[in-house]
Amino acid sequence: MSSIDNLPPLRQVIATHELSARKALGQNFLLDLNLTAKIARVAGDLSQVDVLEVGPGPGGLTRALLAEGARRVVAVEKDPRCLPALAEIEAVYPGRLRVLHGDAMDLDWEAELSAPRKIVANLPYNVGTELLVRWLTPASWPPPWESLTLMFQREVAERIVAKPGSKAYGRLAILAQWRADARIAMTLPPEAFTPAPKVHSAVVHLTALPVPRFEADAKVLSRVVATAFGQRRKMLRSALKGMAPDIEDRLVAAGLTPTDRAEQVPIEGFCALARVMADVGKA
Ligand code: SAM
Repeated sequence: MSSIDNLPPLRQVIATHELSARKALGQNFLLDLNLTAKIARVAGDLSQVDVLEVGPGPGGLTRALLAEGARRVVAVEKDPRCLPALAEIEAVYPGRLRVLHGDAMDLDWEAELSAPRKIVANLPYNVGTELLVRWLTPASWPPPWESLTLMFQREVAERIVAKPGSKAYGRLAILAQWRADARIAMTLPPEAFTPAPKVHSAVVHLTALPVPRFEADAKVLSRVVATAFGQRRKMLRSALKGMAPDIEDRLVAAGLTPTDRAEQVPIEGFCALARVMADVGKA
């Protein structure tokens, strides 16, 4: 393990602060600083940006972000046991790291960072997807972030970058690729983590597009897509019939074939459907 700062190796940090991993908090730590440096580099040049990190834990990725030159890192951690270890990193990078103790789900993160902003995180599996969906679905676009560099279980990463017609294609692919470019930048075996999870992981890099690929309201699109894929084996007209009594006419108006299944419909088709469904549920 190479030293990227004058701080102790992460195994020692964990031993000193007694950070035995807690499953309920999704704690699978990255202890190899070469690996965390690679992840930080996926996010590109950080020298002019503030970085939000969710779940710094013992600080392996945090240290890499700072060593790679991030202008400032704001790290939100739920587990109070990690705070003393993170305070040691703050001391080595004065003024460049702010640690917030709390739940990332409740944080008004945008207010804590100056633009331009990037988000980089080895996300806790239990809140990762929900956070991603929130970051992808603000009412207006462009969002407050330039890019997201996020570790997920590989199966979730594959759903984010999936193409129409594939099994993995669904809500995550549509919400991600509607407004961003998304690619898998790295895959990692279970042994890269301590403790090792049961599954492989992958780092997904998403870059916000200046404007969404197709016009649609984020809330309506989310609802339509969630409903269509809620029963993905059904034809669109049956999967969506609860949303509007005249769903068949609306599907045709959107240029879709009512007997198609959701996984055959490209993002453009779902956006067209969201536009003709904009009045539904507003009354
Ligand atoms: N970044 C560290 C690393 O790569 O080794 C730790 C990653 S670990 C997969 C996820 C981290 O998120 C843990 O430190 C856990 O305590 C923290 N966490 C879990 N739920 C959280 C939440 N709702 N808000 C903020 N942090 C959370």
